[in-house]
Amino acid sequence: MDRILEAINNGAVGEQLAAIPLPGTYRAAVLQKADAGMFTGMASRDKDPRKSLKLHEVPVPELAPDEAIVAVMASSINFNTVWSAIFEPVSTFASLGRLARESTWAKRHDLPYHIVGSDGSGVILRVGSAVRNWKPGDRVTIHCNHVDDQDPSAHDDSMLGANQRIWGYETNFGGLADLTVVKANQLMPKPAHLSWEEASVNALCNSTSYRMLVSQNGARMKQGDVVLIWGATGGIGAYAVQYVLNGGGIPVGVVSSPEKARILHEMGCEAVIDRSKAGYQFWNDDETHNEGEWRRFGGDIRALVGEDPDIVFEHPGRSTFGASMYVAKKGGTVVTCAATSGFMMEFDNRYFWMRLKRLVGSHFANYREAYEANRLIAKGMIDPVLSRTFTLDQVGEAAHQVHGNMHEGKIGVLCLAEKEGEGVTDHGLRAKVGEARLRRFRR
Ligand code: NDP
Repeated sequence: MDRILEAINNGAVGEQLAAIPLPGTYRAAVLQKADAGMFTGMASRDKDPRKSLKLHEVPVPELAPDEAIVAVMASSINFNTVWSAIFEPVSTFASLGRLARESTWAKRHDLPYHIVGSDGSGVILRVGSAVRNWKPGDRVTIHCNHVDDQDPSAHDDSMLGANQRIWGYETNFGGLADLTVVKANQLMPKPAHLSWEEASVNALCNSTSYRMLVSQNGARMKQGDVVLIWGATGGIGAYAVQYVLNGGGIPVGVVSSPEKARILHEMGCEAVIDRSKAGYQFWNDDETHNEGEWRRFGGDIRALVGEDPDIVFEHPGRSTFGASMYVAKKGGTVVTCAATSGFMMEFDNRYFWMRLKRLVGSHFANYREAYEANRLIAKGMIDPVLSRTFTLDQVGEAAHQVHGNMHEGKIGVLCLAEKEGEGVTDHGLRAKVGEARLRRFRR
């Protein structure tokens, strides 16, 4: 691995990288199947990723014809790694078992350990015999849509594919490692003005927000739309704010601290609600909603922007969903991709049907959407929201911070990269975008 890293740092060309033998094993952040019951009976908040997510040496898997082996320079923590690490809502080992039944190559994924991680930036070391558009030496970012391209159901919108999966969550060989094995149709060019760690944090969250707001498959935001964004400085929310501003919309960002409110103001989001300060109690108890609080929340939004949201960017789930469905404008859209606080959601249907609203379910992004979202990053039109980085051996702590909502934006993880700031090749674009924007979330 040292030879590979040295070659990458010295700018080795593809043939040179391809000539270096791959090691037999590599470092990877893994969960053990034997640990899947370790948190049984505990409350979600008490389940600690530091206890389950550990660094191990694992063997390099064989390469299928449609795949590439990538030297991972950096990766990031997504909330799906938190879900995997606390074995909620289900253990991901069941997904690996189901995948294994699909083909001879898929059998490789069913192991007693799960290498997690659904983001990555790095350099291609090997490509399989069927790969046409990529070669060793290409600098890439990796999106997490793992799709069977011989499945007819995946050929309209690949997110509708019967066997669509999320790499590093529902598949093995994820990105929190020194090497990863991915399908060629997960690869995208690395934005040249970004460092490895800045480039590694975008693909999952940026593409998700792009589909939710911009794509025809999502809420189809248009100029002037008021968009209510929960968790507006979190992973997906911080990209959502940028899409709304870029698209001529009016973001209303909800956050939970003055520091996060400050970041939003700096981004150009003028309408900000600090939910901790406001102290909304949308539920009286586990069973009953507090409609008066929905009204108060709606009133606060109107006080800021003078109208109700055309779109609500929803993901906290049970704790906020009733309020989101209530405050959306007549004819408006609630678009949801998650349920961090609980997936059994409730809302008052009277305000939904009488006010002719739409509810759109959204999940990650197809290759085209991910590629378009990556292109906007590469052009300096959407910025990474990296707040801090950890090293690969600190991966449990990094996941713990995201689980505990102790972070802003994205947490990056240095894998093969030994320090921050490396990997930039377009210094001109970097200067044009400016450090102030690129470091806006940094602590
Ligand atoms: P982050 O933890 O980075 O950000 C989420 C933010 O939501 C938090 O910072 C917090 O912001 C806010 N939040 C959390 N709980 C609540 C609550 N009970 N009420 C109101 N706000 C809350 O996570 P991500 O943005 O990366 O992901 C958010 C969710 O989306 C996760 O569940 C994740 O699994 C899911 N997801 C789904 C994807 C898909 O493809 N389906 C893709 C990406 C993410 P604050 O405290 O400032 O209000």
